[in-house]
Amino acid sequence: MNVAGMLEDLDRSIECEVNCKWETLEKVSLANHTRVLNAFIKNRVSSFHLQGSSGYGYDDTGREALDKVYADIFGAEAALVRGQIVSGTHAIALCLYGILRPGDELLSLQGSPYDTLEEMIGIRGQQNGTLAQYNISYRQLKLTPQELLNPDRIKTIMTPATRMVMLQRSRGYACAPSMSMVEMEQVIDNIKLAAPEVIVFVDNCYGEFVETREPTHVGADLVAGSLIKNPGGGLAPTGGYVAGRRELVEAAACRLTAPGIGGEVGPTLCWQRQLYQGLFLSPGMVYQSVKGAIFAARLFERLGYAVNPAWDEPRTDIIQSITLGNPKRILAFCRGIQKMSPVDAHVTPEPCDMPGYDDPIVMAAGTFIQGASLELTADSPLREPYTVYLQGGLSYHYIKLAVLAAARAVIEVR
Ligand SMILES: *Cc1c(COP(=O)(O)O)cnc(C)c1O
Repeated sequence: MNVAGMLEDLDRSIECEVNCKWETLEKVSLANHTRVLNAFIKNRVSSFHLQGSSGYGYDDTGREALDKVYADIFGAEAALVRGQIVSGTHAIALCLYGILRPGDELLSLQGSPYDTLEEMIGIRGQQNGTLAQYNISYRQLKLTPQELLNPDRIKTIMTPATRMVMLQRSRGYACAPSMSMVEMEQVIDNIKLAAPEVIVFVDNCYGEFVETREPTHVGADLVAGSLIKNPGGGLAPTGGYVAGRRELVEAAACRLTAPGIGGEVGPTLCWQRQLYQGLFLSPGMVYQSVKGAIFAARLFERLGYAVNPAWDEPRTDIIQSITLGNPKRILAFCRGIQKMSPVDAHVTPEPCDMPGYDDPIVMAAGTFIQGASLELTADSPLREPYTVYLQGGLSYHYIKLAVLAAARAVIEVR
């Protein structure tokens, strides 16, 4: 049979299998929509909040209300939501530089941090104002899931200098598992038991609204993320957020602007409506992309590739990794996705060096907002074991069209 016919049959058969997952996802989406809507209503979001301000942005009630809406959604005391935060990495940097002081230790329990954080910490690349230069040390361990859940093991790891433990919810570019909210709750309990004063910070990128709880609901002191990922709902043109304990959010705000100014300034220019509307739509958009990820997982599993998570495993982020085993298939996959994009479908993704990343990266991103990865994107650092990371897609049907095209491209280079 020809490839197109084979894929059509596979599509039909997978559609029957994956159907059984939708009910659970719909419940999550409904719970999150409810929480988001209640936060809008409680904080009396009004049409004048959507207008935007200029200059210093003094008395910008739209900015203040959005901070409160985020805080409520995250079950946090405070939040800082700003278009001036340029990316997820920047939001994380505000938390690390805002809170850590010389002599403090930052600890990771899940192995290597996300690629872009390595330069910030000072364990790779350039040396321009890294945490290491400020005498903030970093230690990483890669605990097994069993060790993470063992309070005695956690206790042996903490030192008096350990000021902050950084957890990562999603898998990032590692073949490591992501951390569900149930697991995170236990891990945070263990950390707090061993060292009550330690600040638990969670890199929440790609995790928002995939489950019904956020890290701040299960004990995290502070979270950060990007608005061109999940909580921007595909509409936010830029931005990032920080949410958590008030004093910590204020410390991050003082790093964003300056001590003494903190979150009291910051014009919202022309993007505020999109930040609100994107947040409002986000639970539904995340629901679409998780559906697409499940379809992609089953499709590539059936084609004989290792995928993570498996199609029927519970999810806590929107990332689907697919190990294709060689660079030719990686390129074919990304080009297949790109060809089915609403924007820039005619361009051919090529691997290249990216700021913050060590290996060349190939990226398919035919998105309306540059690099927005709640819109459908696929990327892969070109290194063993040649795994591609697929995430986002604002509609299930569109994701299906794109991953079927990617599957076809992969089959044809094989
Ligand atoms: C995307 C991501 C980041 C960094 O976000 P950028 O917006 O690319 O700077 C950090 N951590 C994780 C886990 C991510 O997925």
